[in-house]
Formats: sequence, structure tokens, C-alpha cells
Amino acid sequence: MLSLSKVIPEHIITENFRWVNREFMVYSSYKNIRKKFNLSIDNTCFWCSKKFEDNEMMVLAAREKKENVLLCQKCVDKMEGTECQ
Ligand SMILES: [Zn+2]
Repeated sequence: MLSLSKVIPEHIITENFRWVNREFMVYSSYKNIRKKFNLSIDNTCFWCSKKFEDNEMMVLAAREKKENVLLCQKCVDKMEGTECQ
């Protein structure tokens, strides 16, 4: 069998946000509340998939025309653009 292979540069994915709340909730409180109401629990950052620690402050971010997501502080640090609140 003949074959050729090469590395294709990764695509850049950009997600736009309308606003972020950097002091949304500590993960342990979030977890307890969601459990109480039998709701699904997101235990990782939406962007980098890092697991939240119990005492970690989560960020709530509103995406453009999509549902809100949870982010870690590091990802918000990396956000580019101007904040318009
Ligand atoms: Zn993250």
C-alpha cells in the first residue's frame, strides 16, 4: 500500500462572548446546589476542559446566541478584545 501523510495545521476556533462574570460561584457551592435540584453538574472548564477544584471560583460566560458556559479564571485571563458591560 502506498501512502503519504503530513501534518495539517490546526484550525483556530474562536468563540465570542457577550459578557463574563468572574465571581459566579465557588465550585463546591455550585455542585451542592445542582445536586439538590437534581441537575447535571459541569465539572470542567468549557474551553480548556480543566477540572474545577472544590474551592475554585468559576466564571459564568454568556456566548453569542448560545447557552451560557462555565470557564476557569485562566481562560478568562487569556480572553482578547474589549469588555463591554
Ligand atoms: Zn479553562
